[in-house]
Amino acid sequence: MIPRRRVPIARTDFVEWFRSFVRRGASAADDVSRFERAVADYLGCEFARATSSGRDAIELALDGVGAQPGDEVIVPAYTLGELLPLLQARGLKLLAADIEADTFNIDPRRVADRITPKTRAILATHLLGAPCDIEAICALAREHDVAVIEDCAHGFGASVAGRKVGTFGDAAIFSLEVNKAVPTYGGGIIVTGDPKIAESVSAALDARPRSERAARKKAFSTWVEESLIRSPFYAILARILFSEKFARTFERFYRGSHDRLRTVKRAYTGFQARLGIARLGQLDDRNERLNRRWDELAGQLPDGFTVQVRDRVGTPAFYNFVALSPIGPKALRRRAMRLGLDVGIGSEVMDDCGRMLDADDCPTATRVAERAVLLPFYDGLSRRRFRRLVRTLEKLAAG
Ligand SMILES: *Cc1c(COP(=O)(O)O)cnc(C)c1O
Repeated sequence: MIPRRRVPIARTDFVEWFRSFVRRGASAADDVSRFERAVADYLGCEFARATSSGRDAIELALDGVGAQPGDEVIVPAYTLGELLPLLQARGLKLLAADIEADTFNIDPRRVADRITPKTRAILATHLLGAPCDIEAICALAREHDVAVIEDCAHGFGASVAGRKVGTFGDAAIFSLEVNKAVPTYGGGIIVTGDPKIAESVSAALDARPRSERAARKKAFSTWVEESLIRSPFYAILARILFSEKFARTFERFYRGSHDRLRTVKRAYTGFQARLGIARLGQLDDRNERLNRRWDELAGQLPDGFTVQVRDRVGTPAFYNFVALSPIGPKALRRRAMRLGLDVGIGSEVMDDCGRMLDADDCPTATRVAERAVLLPFYDGLSRRRFRRLVRTLEKLAAG
């Protein structure tokens, strides 16, 4: 069985895990500051702070731009659905803007249709590593005096006209979750060039309780989970857990257990920061290597599959390989599973947020959501598995 994803675990993770028992307090705080400076230097911005999660960073960004209950926020019609209740809980009114059919990214023309005098912010997501048309969105926002928050959870290292994404909007967020490009067993980053936003973010983060414990616990549970995925039992387990009967229950359980670790807002830890510095140093190489392999797979994808266009606006970062399936994703998954391939479908890829928000004018998002499949493609995928992946896709396309 080729698993859908693989969490990278390095030897330094264990070393730093043990070190976190002794390197605490002020020295841990120093490590966090060093990581934050490294991120700011990498992106080419003034201010970057590490947070509990990407979601936490979004909330801090909303506070920073002064979003109040009753304000309107424009969101992509195709993105992570779990973000919606988070924003709605703050009394914000969400309006979905449809996506572009080729890049799957929020379409600036649809954003323009959504702006009203009550619009406070636009959430501009660089989906699946492909830069969205951020310059057009920022131009629109300036014209209407609306804030732009860039969601760079998938786009760490992507750039537009030589400038890193995350430096265009009023604020930007990154995720350091285990499945993202700079994984540090959870965490996030908020970036801004606006001194007022920076001040409000720092005030909130400096008041957070400091403890290394939760991050250590998260690392440990990730290691247990990952050794299961890499064991021979996984083939059997996956068939049960991802079967039509159990998939929904399992996903709810899985997300719930991860949410519990994420919802508590703590200071980012020294343990995580030291891993972050190491992984940030590898990010450009990783993106280059995986982008090259992405192109290779895209070139060998059998007829019938449609790949996401990632480089129309700028240089992409690698997140996941997502394509539109020639047949219904449920049938595709059933047959793929029998051939030893674990593919993600439906909300395991991303969500039809247009439909979740009852918008009836986001047909592209619905079409993409109904066809999108996440192929098992990750760092460390061996040549042998790569060839098997291509051969299996050919069989699936042939019917
Ligand atoms: C992962 C993700 C986030 C938030 O990240 P967490 O660290 O998991 O809170 C935000 N937006 C998108 C599109 C994501 O995929």
